[in-house]
Amino acid sequence: MSVEFKQIENIFEYQGHKLPGLGEFREHKEQDFISIIFMCPCGCEMIRSIRVREPIKEHGPGIWGWNGDCEKPTVKPSIQIVGECNWHGWLTDGQFQRC
Ligand SMILES: [Zn+2]
Repeated sequence: MSVEFKQIENIFEYQGHKLPGLGEFREHKEQDFISIIFMCPCGCEMIRSIRVREPIKEHGPGIWGWNGDCEKPTVKPSIQIVGECNWHGWLTDGQFQRC
């Protein structure tokens, strides 16, 4: 079962709704990455974030490659939450899919 990524403006305003897959993009001044901050797709109601940058092929330590699409993002490699809920899966074409 997959969970749809749904772009919103400010995830912290949506905390009360706690819908898995809600997420926002946040730019950082003078940094060469942006953050995707999202409600954990597992339903544990925790907010997660990853650092991404284009192009998708150029991922490195702590930075995911991103296809540049805000509506239906794809990032690589897979996302693994270490500890807590241990969710591990992919964000592909706007869908979170557990491994
Ligand atoms: Zn979770």
